[in-house]
Amino acid sequence: MKVLKFGGSSVGSAEAITKVLAIVTESIKNEPTIVVVSAMSGVTDQLLLLAQSASQGNEAYKTIIQNIEQKHLDTVRALLPIQQQSATLSLVKQIINEIEDNCEGLFMLKELSMRMQDKIISYGELLSSKIISAAFAAKGINQKWIDSREVIKTNSNYFNAVVDKELTYKTIQAYFSAPENNKFDLYMAPGFVSSDAEGNTTTLGRGGSDYTGAIYAAALKATALEIWTDVSGMMTADPRMVQNAKEIPQISYQEAMELSHFGAKVIYPPTLQPVMQQNIPVWIKNTFEPTQDRKST
Ligand code: ADP
Ligand code: ASP
Ligand code: MG
Repeated sequence: MKVLKFGGSSVGSAEAITKVLAIVTESIKNEPTIVVVSAMSGVTDQLLLLAQSASQGNEAYKTIIQNIEQKHLDTVRALLPIQQQSATLSLVKQIINEIEDNCEGLFMLKELSMRMQDKIISYGELLSSKIISAAFAAKGINQKWIDSREVIKTNSNYFNAVVDKELTYKTIQAYFSAPENNKFDLYMAPGFVSSDAEGNTTTLGRGGSDYTGAIYAAALKATALEIWTDVSGMMTADPRMVQNAKEIPQISYQEAMELSHFGAKVIYPPTLQPVMQQNIPVWIKNTFEPTQDRKST
């Protein structure tokens, strides 16, 4: 098993998702693959703003929902063959209706709990993973969508939940050894989302989809974790800030951990510990220039 995680920019448009489909189609020729995806770029921020606006009694929340809906419906229309769009369009509308119902409640209550905020921000990954799963199904790939909330178990520290690794690894292992689940070439999983002991949705911290990938990889002793993003590796500094930032061809887990703690956003700090424990190689790859490989461990 291999784990490929695609970040927000890699799934940010139908065009980018088409690149993801090509990369994953290559991977599954070699071994079964878990694909973990972030929300489409900007959507988690929009959902946060949405929850805050609705709970502050600001009618503008309705426009935010419309924008989120439009972005996802446009993506489905551009991505799927026309005859296969209707089920996914309905699914997107159904999820948007749920978001709307939650926001109407917030608008009336004028109060936003951290639990409710996590529920609302989790919809970004649910939407992107469902749409991409439908795109793989339309290509005839033998794939299954996994609900990461059911297998990744955390405490109730909403927005920055702490993973119960022992329980989570057991749950993931049990899931993948069940005969009804272990026969697929591809598993599509939302990143970032998890749940607590009561079954409430929790989230793993901003940037947490990298961590979701690492958790699946460590639980299943995957052959590799690939973080697909918009840069070709870890660099000496943030390329958006420092013009002459250099790519680091290879780096130890320890050094990568230090860099990420000091702000290298390309990898979310908690990601490295689970993969280091199992000695799983981590690669940082560029979705938009897929031939360049850079290894981070
Ligand atoms: P994704 O949505 O794929 O998770 P992120 O925006 O979270 O992507 O992370 C990728 C970004 O991290 C890059 O576009 C880059 O600007 C930034 N970044 C910051 N520090 C570094 C670094 N040291 N090396 C590489 N990228 C970095
Ligand atoms: N969508 C979440 C965020 O924007 C998680 C992630 O992208 O890794 O923080
Ligand atoms: Mg990230």
